[in-house]
Amino acid sequence: MDIRTIMVIGAGQMGSGIAQVAAQTGLEVRLNDIKEEFLQRGLATISKNLTRDVEKGRKSEEEKQAVLSRIHPTTDLNDARDVQLVIEAAVENMEIKSDLFRRLDAIAPAGAILATNTSSLPITEIAAVTNRPELVIGMHFMNPVPVMKLVEVIRGLATSDETYQTIEELSKKMGKVPVEVNDFPGFVSNRILLPMINEAIYAVYEGVATPEAVDQVMKLGMNHPMGPLELADFIGLDTCLSIMEILHEGLGDSKYRPCPLLRKYVKAGWLGKKTGRGFYQYEG
Ligand code: NAD
Repeated sequence: MDIRTIMVIGAGQMGSGIAQVAAQTGLEVRLNDIKEEFLQRGLATISKNLTRDVEKGRKSEEEKQAVLSRIHPTTDLNDARDVQLVIEAAVENMEIKSDLFRRLDAIAPAGAILATNTSSLPITEIAAVTNRPELVIGMHFMNPVPVMKLVEVIRGLATSDETYQTIEELSKKMGKVPVEVNDFPGFVSNRILLPMINEAIYAVYEGVATPEAVDQVMKLGMNHPMGPLELADFIGLDTCLSIMEILHEGLGDSKYRPCPLLRKYVKAGWLGKKTGRGFYQYEG
């Protein structure tokens, strides 16, 4: 299927990035969120990114305007009635995603693909609330979307080969590298990344080293661009905890138990960069 018109649900960090990259690819994009102010915030982020591209000579002013003109904000989910693909990037909550997929299944035309950008929730379970599980798929972009190359493409139990191929082709067209993954807790990215972050937190908890020392070891010794604790603060410690809980519950192995120090920080409201305090302190 040649995809030309899509809807992106959620104009937050991920949704605005996905909308920007899709519009840069020449697609017509309906950007949906629950409130006008969230849409405006998402559009402002996109505009800021594009202005930086113009300043750095990566785009002309005309190209920037053309990209912006392809993004149509809407708070009405019924605007999905004539799209070929929906990419859902609302909050990481099963109830919210299930409700959205149930409604989208009733609104979107027969044959339209319903994709989710979930970081950890089961694609098969999201697909099961629809009458088109063969057209439901995971399309897991990385943050920040305009910069990161990877798209993990996750097949649910019933996802058809045709759906997979359409999403693989579209990911390439968007300048990304799709990697095929099956539907298991955390997929590949978070199954490997989060236990590493959790282990780094255990190293601090058990007094092996300070957060600064743990991060230095991984940056200088393993050539990681960011240390695991710095990265945890960037992702959000609440998100890290919820992914560890999904791994622990879904795989039933005690090696995935979340570190008590991670739970303590989340309970204290130390969620990382977004709250100004996590393993490090942030100003402003
Ligand atoms: P965010 O909080 O920045 O944005 C979520 C947006 O969704 C908000 O603007 C919110 O108003 C909107 N929203 C909530 N309910 C909605 C609904 N019913 N209809 C329409 N819009 C709704 O979150 P984010 O970081 O952009 O994450 C979005 C999704 O992407 C999550 O599933 C998350 O797990 C996944 N993800 C996040 C990252 C990351 O690093 N942040 C990376 C990959 C995937």
